[in-house]
Amino acid sequence: MFKIEQAQRLQVLPPYLFAEIDRKKEECRAKGIDIISLGIGDPDRPTPDHIINRLGQAVKNSVTHRYPTYNGMKDFRQAVADWYGNRLQLNLDPDEEILALIGSKEGIAHIPLAFVNPGDTVLIPDPGYPVYKIGTSFAGGVPYFMPLLEENEFLPDFSAIPADIAKKAKMMFVNYPNNPTAADASLDFYQELVEFAREYEIIVLNDAAYSEIYFDGYETPSFLQAPGALEVGIEIQSLSKTYNMTGWRIGWVAGRAEVVRGLASVKENIDSGVFEAIQLAGIEALRGDQTCVEEMRKMYARRRDVLIAGLRDLGLSVKTPHTTFYLWARLPDGYTSANFTTKLLEETGVVCTPGNGFGPSGEGYVRFALTQEEDRLEEAVSRIKKLQL
Ligand SMILES: *Cc1c(COP(=O)(O)O)cnc(C)c1O
Repeated sequence: MFKIEQAQRLQVLPPYLFAEIDRKKEECRAKGIDIISLGIGDPDRPTPDHIINRLGQAVKNSVTHRYPTYNGMKDFRQAVADWYGNRLQLNLDPDEEILALIGSKEGIAHIPLAFVNPGDTVLIPDPGYPVYKIGTSFAGGVPYFMPLLEENEFLPDFSAIPADIAKKAKMMFVNYPNNPTAADASLDFYQELVEFAREYEIIVLNDAAYSEIYFDGYETPSFLQAPGALEVGIEIQSLSKTYNMTGWRIGWVAGRAEVVRGLASVKENIDSGVFEAIQLAGIEALRGDQTCVEEMRKMYARRRDVLIAGLRDLGLSVKTPHTTFYLWARLPDGYTSANFTTKLLEETGVVCTPGNGFGPSGEGYVRFALTQEEDRLEEAVSRIKKLQL
């Protein structure tokens, strides 16, 4: 048999972040340790019933069994446009400025193919969701990392980007509310971002997957609300986190028409759109009763308060976030992300994610996902209390 060699683009992939943790988790499980996994950002609660019921109904209609339209059903795109109108008082054109995605990860991975030529620079947050970097590399682009530092409230510092890099940059990914740091950006920041992007002619892509997870009377602004945002970029959105629909694979992009069109051209040649029954369920999510979203916010806020108290008792430095379902904790001196994660797992059975897995600036931090019920978090806290750092 001849040797099968993977393409270079696959050979540059970093080792899978969770593989080592998974191995240790299995070891602990085999020893009979009860594992409490706060590692993965996947909502633990089911999709709300009214959305499931809409899917059940839609799937029985054979009209949905055919190939969908490439850019998403008109009704879905209109529901998205109306959502922007109601939530953010923004007026978007459902035909030119909105495109359905098979989950936002799909859009993030594909968009560099539309705009990045081999060798082009793409500005990427560090720490950050790994797909920004991987999508860029797959297109032959060169990632340039923008460190997100605690002293800058985990926002990129545009003045620290060398002018020659900014001039070469074709695109920039940002992600607010942010995974993994749980930081949010203000409209003032988005305004600064628009000005920077205009000056250097950079396409801006804000990943807003966590925009609806906010607490304590705070409400996240949208990048698209900043004056001029529609000239420089798009927002990438998802139903995954807002409606506990990670498995369903549905999201959208909204913003500058040429950017939307470029991504649509790539997708037309790769996929055939989102199953229409899922789009109909997505319309139900967006137009239906939003009580489920309000309840989800209260639930994550309660979970957040339980876990933060325990982490602070242990000596970790954690700000109380008003967005996302993550806690981003700074470790005491003497600990690395990796050795803390291992110690926590081996001595308490609690799984967190090492911050350096999201990029070099994540070193010295760990991320906890609030994706377990409150009683499990209380159990985690009671075990963490016995830990000696
Ligand atoms: C969860 C998540 C998404 C959502 O991904 P989908 O593909 O829409 O399920 C996007 N971006 C970030 C940063 C996330 O954490």
